Amino acid sequence: MITETDNPVRVMGLHSLTYCERLYYLEEVENILIADERVYAGRNFHEEIRVDNQDIGRVETFEYTSEKLGLTGKVDRLQKRDGIWIPYEHKIGRSKTIGKEKEAWESDAIQVTAYAFLIEEASGRIIEEGRIKYRRDNVLVKLELTDQLRQKTLGTIERAKRIRAEVHRPPVTENANLCVRCSLAPVCLPEENRSLEMEDYEAARLFVPHREKETIHITGYKTRVSKKGEAIEIIKNDDEVKTGKTKFPVNEIESIILHGSVSISAQLIAFLSWQKIPIHWFSMGGSYIGGLNSNAGTPQRKIRQYEALTDGKIRFYLTKKLAIGKCETQLRYILRATRKKERAISQMEAIDAMRQNLKKMTEADNVDAIRGYEGTIARIYHQIIPTLLLSEVPNHMFPNGRTKRPPKDRYNAIQSFLYSLLYKSVFQAIIAVGLDPDFGFYHTPRSSASPLVLDLMELFRTPICDIPLVGSVNRMSWDIKDDFEVTNEKVWLSESGRKKAIAIYETRLNDTWKHPVMGYSLTYYRMIEMEVRFLEKEWSDQAGLFARARLR
Ligand code: SF4
Repeated sequence: MITETDNPVRVMGLHSLTYCERLYYLEEVENILIADERVYAGRNFHEEIRVDNQDIGRVETFEYTSEKLGLTGKVDRLQKRDGIWIPYEHKIGRSKTIGKEKEAWESDAIQVTAYAFLIEEASGRIIEEGRIKYRRDNVLVKLELTDQLRQKTLGTIERAKRIRAEVHRPPVTENANLCVRCSLAPVCLPEENRSLEMEDYEAARLFVPHREKETIHITGYKTRVSKKGEAIEIIKNDDEVKTGKTKFPVNEIESIILHGSVSISAQLIAFLSWQKIPIHWFSMGGSYIGGLNSNAGTPQRKIRQYEALTDGKIRFYLTKKLAIGKCETQLRYILRATRKKERAISQMEAIDAMRQNLKKMTEADNVDAIRGYEGTIARIYHQIIPTLLLSEVPNHMFPNGRTKRPPKDRYNAIQSFLYSLLYKSVFQAIIAVGLDPDFGFYHTPRSSASPLVLDLMELFRTPICDIPLVGSVNRMSWDIKDDFEVTNEKVWLSESGRKKAIAIYETRLNDTWKHPVMGYSLTYYRMIEMEVRFLEKEWSDQAGLFARARLR
């Protein structure tokens, strides 16, 4: 439980609360802060003010915590006029216009009044007015700190304390206009909630459709990676020819993946952790070893996850949705991949068997039955995959069933590596959303792999890994000698093979795809995060969005 002395309410939090209760909860309780362009613009603006103020020497940045009120804050500027202190707040947007009158927005007025409370307690003097400068329309609003405004502000402080003691997130605001300008819309996904609540609602896309930063894969025997100022530098083994870019500014990096014997400096590990940039390690054989993610998430989100996923009914509901989503996608892929030519009898029988098992799955009332149907469909699916490969494909590239640990043929070696990359992507998305990857609902914890990651991967194996893999084999993209290391026991990818697989995977992540339910396009990369957010919504605020996407 958060206590007032340990964790006073931030005045900025009151500003968010007046805007939207859910925004306040996401920011102040769940600690979700997204620095979008508007936030950066605001920060730069405040930096400019600070510089100006120092130049003219009339401003003190004032920071104070009131134990009595359980409130803390930092005033932009404090100026003395006729012996009275006046708090100034600077806003990058416009003032509120009523007719010809220019006024402060309620959230800004409450923020300035809360600052006044802090100054009064610190100085022992009454503050009678505050001023708010709106940059966009260049308006300075003088704000009289009336009794009514003071009461409203005290009420808001109390409301803030009440709301943050809740485990459950407040609902999406009814005023959809607020969401368009809200920096947390990509996390909150309010339009997606509304689309479920209102029939024929056309959801606006507030979720960022593309990845904004790069994933850096580092391969190569004895390659080193270290910190160089605010960038990472890749230093290749002296024997290798240096190709491509070797320096990446840290603000352009989303995550770093180290393959095989690449080494990383301790200084860079610390720096990346501080910057909240995940690092992942893959073995020489292409298996995922582990990752370092410093975004731990908040207890509220994990408490809700544990509560939900220990409830048998919820586990069953999610398992069924997941299994149907996965198997329908597998069936649709087989239908799509075989529609141009006359289907072979074996293909028609396989499709028929998949359909029958899917129908039984939708009627199943227990997890064991679902597992059984899902296993049968998966077996049929993997048996039919070789029939999707062209007759010109060399025999060496055909899969001989599904072999995992270790892969025993070239096709399975590529597939296993692509699945490992997918594991990393799903793991990272789960951490970004603040869930515990070790607590899932379908897979049982029997290996070192995290069950929730394995659960969510089921939705993406076909569209992100299998489809591009079949495509690359049919395009003859693989060199059966140079791209593989083959022994009697196993087959794995050589360095050139790994590089090809990484390129196929990353290209696929950047492919856009129209979400058949939401009706807007986004990349597969973003789709993974969106499904994790939909899953979290199942038990946090809006059930019904998870696992609805299907291959067309
Ligand atoms: S997106 Fe809308 S509902 Fe969600 S926090 Fe922002 S304003 Fe509130």
